[in-house]
Amino acid sequence: MKTESILVCGGGLAGMATALGLKKAGFEVSVLAPAYQPMALAEQQYHPRVYALSAASQQFLERLGAWGLMRSERITPVNGMELYGDGDGFVQLDAWQNAQTTLTWIVESGELERALYQALQVFSVPWHQDLFADLTANGVLTQSGQTLPADLVIGADGARSLVRSKAHIEHHSTPYHHDGVVAHLNIELPHQNMAYQWFTGDSVLALLPLPDTNEGPQVSMVWSTQAQQAQDFMALDESAQQQHIQRLLGALTQHRLGKLRLRSKPFAFPLTLERSAMIAPRVALVGDAAHRVHPLAGQGLNLGLGDIEELIRVLQDKPSYQSVGEQRVLERYRRARLEPVLAMRLVTHGLHQLFATQVAPIALARNVGMKLVDKLPFIKRHLIAGAAGKIGF
Ligand SMILES: Cc1cc2nc3c(=O)[nH]c(=O)nc-3n(C[C@H](O)[C@H](O)[C@H](O)COP(=O)(O)OP(=O)(O)OC[C@H]3O[C@@H](n4cnc5c(N)ncnc54)[C@H](O)[C@@H]3O)c2cc1C
Repeated sequence: MKTESILVCGGGLAGMATALGLKKAGFEVSVLAPAYQPMALAEQQYHPRVYALSAASQQFLERLGAWGLMRSERITPVNGMELYGDGDGFVQLDAWQNAQTTLTWIVESGELERALYQALQVFSVPWHQDLFADLTANGVLTQSGQTLPADLVIGADGARSLVRSKAHIEHHSTPYHHDGVVAHLNIELPHQNMAYQWFTGDSVLALLPLPDTNEGPQVSMVWSTQAQQAQDFMALDESAQQQHIQRLLGALTQHRLGKLRLRSKPFAFPLTLERSAMIAPRVALVGDAAHRVHPLAGQGLNLGLGDIEELIRVLQDKPSYQSVGEQRVLERYRRARLEPVLAMRLVTHGLHQLFATQVAPIALARNVGMKLVDKLPFIKRHLIAGAAGKIGF
């Protein structure tokens, strides 16, 4: 019997993890994407994008063999979280409250990409350096005019997925009219391996712990704020940005971590809520090509890794008389992802809406609610398990 072939379009984190997982599960798989280009970082310089990985993602990457390829000194375990409302709302979550040692791990995108790429090379996964252009009757057409055969095409080509549009997969996108601004900061006081998040009427500020530097303790900032405010900030020169961080974000954090100082160039991204039907005959989507959520819960990549784990499980468990690209096989994948994707969308979107409203009774209720949650061990255990990816929130 002919071995079926799978083509993964996209060489980001989702594409690389998919190809590696499928290869390790015994499938014939290759990647179609532009050449992997690592970002050159000076000593003590950290990749601008970092991820808070759940325990479920950490275990999956461990099984893929990629976790152990990352430098341990670049991985920061997070032992707890402090969440602040815009009034006096406050919730503290500690890993030990749910008998865990670590809540999440902060890893740099570049470090994870390097580990996944290295593992793909160890397993000799072919990488076609080209771009997906269209679907054909039995494979894909690349931008340079090659045809590549494939029984299943996996779209891991990000939020603007061309695979998704060529396969006519239904897709909805809702802009938040907010941008996410990311940068690394030096802080005055030690972060104590805690993650901090402040919810205000018009923004969410997250400070995630990173390794200490020669200039002092360091955090990664993810500041989701109104698009105009983010653009005004990005238009400032470096010293004005520095002042802005100290003044505005210093006041917002009530100097919880002492003085804040920018140590990297900030980047801004528009934030959207996106969902898709995830499959078509011979096509499945994973990662941002399939869905996108608000970064306030830091769950986008965790959700994408969950897709990949499920897709591999469905393909491994299918009866041998069914093809990898068959609609009823892919339908099992789509159904299995419905609930976790919906749950994450509801949590992130719900939190965004709850904190975006300025209506006085709701603003009061959310702060009272936070204080209440802080006093209820059962709910706290539930939230901690959610952060670990153990339940669908
Ligand atoms: C501000 C911010 C903070 C975030 N923080 C977190 C966090 O803390 N934790 C978390 O889990 N998630 C987080 N996320 C979400 C996370 O960044 C994404 O979910 C993740 O990067 C998506 O990876 P991906 O591989 O699906 O897509 P991408 O990273 O977009 O990769 C797509 C790949 O496809 C390739 N490609 C594009 N077009 C083609 C084509 N035609 N043919 C072939 N290849 C193509 C591209 O070159 C690229 O390599 C955050 C997002 C934002 C915006």
